[in-house]
Amino acid sequence: MEERKMYKAICSDCGKECEVPFKPTPGKPVRCQDCFRKNRPQRSFGGNRRFGRDRRFDRRPREMHKAICAECGKECEVPFKPTEGKPVYCKECFAKRKESQNNSEEF
Ligand SMILES: [Zn+2]
Ligand SMILES: [Zn+2]
Repeated sequence: MEERKMYKAICSDCGKECEVPFKPTPGKPVRCQDCFRKNRPQRSFGGNRRFGRDRRFDRRPREMHKAICAECGKECEVPFKPTEGKPVYCKECFAKRKESQNNSEEF
């Protein structure tokens, strides 16, 4: 097993001393793990096309289907086609049921 050599460097973002697993290149900014993570592009969805291969479905708007919540009887919209005979729940009731399901699972 090769031991990973760590190099001391000063984070160009926060100025903290940190260690990096590569030799810092003069003139190139070095970031500590915290700043590195902060600077990583983090978009919730649809942002980065280069990495968006498995997110194809995010490109077009979701088709919403009208449904009646089986719990409270309110009209709601769901992102999937309601299956006949299967209950559909509005967001609120869905969240409520999920909560109670989680509880019973823990039990
Ligand atoms: Zn930093
Ligand atoms: Zn409901």
